[in-house]
Amino acid sequence: MNLNYCVNCSFPEIKLDLSFNEKDLCSACDAAEKKDKGIDWKSLKFDFKKITQLTSKPVVTRGGAGTPSHFTELISTNYNGALAAVSIYHFTQYAPQEVKNLE
Ligand SMILES: [Zn+2]
Repeated sequence: MNLNYCVNCSFPEIKLDLSFNEKDLCSACDAAEKKDKGIDWKSLKFDFKKITQLTSKPVVTRGGAGTPSHFTELISTNYNGALAAVSIYHFTQYAPQEVKNLE
């Protein structure tokens, strides 16, 4: 039996909900690639600032961090809400402990 492997992450096609496109890219890598190309990060950053200025309530951010520097960048803006992240730990080499240890 021959297995397909993702050309990007080398994950084999053994996971039931994972599919491969015509370029042998797994659906997770394909989604990550499209996410990076299709999101206007500057616009989102502007919208986020507007939201935090409109309310005194804590705003919980989720997603969008690609490196630990994105956390430090947000914290340096006097942001006092909560931070949540998942994808950075799935799609990069960074571990939660590295982000927890940021100063
Ligand atoms: Zn992949």
